[in-house]
Amino acid sequence: MSAKIPVGILGATGTVGQKFVRLLAEHPWFEIAAVCASEASAGRPYGEAARWREPAPIPEPVARMLVRPATPPLEVPVRIVFSALDAAVARPIEEGFAAAGVYVVTNTRNLRMDPDVPLLVPEVNADHLALLHVQQRARGWRGGVVANPNCSTAALVLALAPLHQAFGVTRAFVATMQAVSGAGYPGVASLDIVGNVIPHIGGEEEKIETETRKILGALAGEGDAAGVTEADVVVSAHANRVPVIDGHTEVVSVGLARRATPEEAVAVLRDWTGHASVRGLPSSPARPVEVDERADRPQPRLDLERGRGMTVTVGRVRPCRLLDLRLALLGHNTLRGAAGAAVQNAELLVAQGWVPRG
Ligand code: NAP
Repeated sequence: MSAKIPVGILGATGTVGQKFVRLLAEHPWFEIAAVCASEASAGRPYGEAARWREPAPIPEPVARMLVRPATPPLEVPVRIVFSALDAAVARPIEEGFAAAGVYVVTNTRNLRMDPDVPLLVPEVNADHLALLHVQQRARGWRGGVVANPNCSTAALVLALAPLHQAFGVTRAFVATMQAVSGAGYPGVASLDIVGNVIPHIGGEEEKIETETRKILGALAGEGDAAGVTEADVVVSAHANRVPVIDGHTEVVSVGLARRATPEEAVAVLRDWTGHASVRGLPSSPARPVEVDERADRPQPRLDLERGRGMTVTVGRVRPCRLLDLRLALLGHNTLRGAAGAAVQNAELLVAQGWVPRG
C-alpha cells in the first residue's frame, strides 16, 4: 500500500483509546490523523489530556496533536474512526460519523446486537461483514458501523467456534475471572479489589450470553436480504472481577451435539486457523487459538502476550461430569477483546474493499 489511510480515534484518552494509539502509531496501513475525546480534553495536547498508562512512551507526533471534540465531520478527512467512547455517549456520535460517510469500528456495546450491524470476531464470522449492505440501505448511510464483541465474549467464541464447527456446541457454562483494566480508568477502586474478588460486573453476563449466539450464528441471504440466524447455543455466564491487571481467564463447560473426547477436541482446536480471508492481515496472529496442555496453564502472567495479545490460550481440556467437556481459556481483554480486535476488523474492511486504499 503506497499512502497510509487516515484514521481517527474516538475516546482516544481512555484505556482502550491508548491501546489504539499504540497499535495505530506503528501500523503499516493506517495513520492517526485525529484524536478525539470529551469537551474536558478537547483543545489540549494529547500528551497532557491523556493519563497515559501504557508501558511505552506516547508516540511523539500523537503527544503533540490537539485533542478534538468527537463530533462529525472532523476538520481532517478520515476514512475510518476507531471508537473507544464511554458507552453512555457513544451511539449518536458513532451514528453521526457513519452518516457522514466514515466507517466506524467500535468497541462499545450500543449497536452490537442491532440485526444489521456486523458483530465480528473475523476468524469466526468474517462473512457477517456482508450485513453492511443491509445497514447502508436501511439507514441511508454512506459509511457504516462494524462492532467487536465484549472482551470476555471475544475470547470465549474463539475457543467455542472450532468445537461448534466440528461437534456442534449446544450449551456452554462459563465463569469469568476478569482483569481490572476491563473496567477502564480509574475503574474499580483499589480498596475494593486488592486481595478481593467481586462476583458482579454490570451487564457482562447478558452480553456474553447474547453476543456469543450472534457471532456463532449463520449468515443467510444475499445483498440487502442478508441476515444472521443466531446459533442455537444456550450460554450461562458468571462474571467476576479479580485483582489481575490485564487478561481475562474463563473456565468453561460445554455440551456437544456429537460426543468428542478431550483428545479429539484438542486436535480440532490445534488445527483451527479460522476464516481464510483473515489470514495474513497485519493484526491476525499466526494461530488464533493455542492449546497448552501443561496442568497449570493458561495464566495471565505467562500466556497473555501470545500472538501479540491476539491469540487465545486454551488449557485443561478434560471430561465434564455435568456437560461433555470442560476447559480453561485466557484472552487479552484490551487487545483481542478491544483495540486489537477493532484494528483487525478495520484491516478486513480494507482487504474486502469497503474502505479504499488509495
Ligand atoms: P475509559 O477509560 O473510561 O475511556 C472513555 C473515553 O471516552 C475517554 O477517552 C473519554 O474522554 C471519552 N468520553 C467520555 N465522555 C465523552 C463524551 N461526552 N464525548 C466524547 N468522548 C467522551 O473507558 P475504556 O475502558 O477505554 O472503554 C471504552 C469503551 O470500550 C467502552 O464503551 C467500554 O465498554 C468498551 N470496552 C472496553 C474494554 C476494556 O477492556 N477496557 C473491552 C471491550 C470494550 P475524556 O478522557 O476526555 O473523559
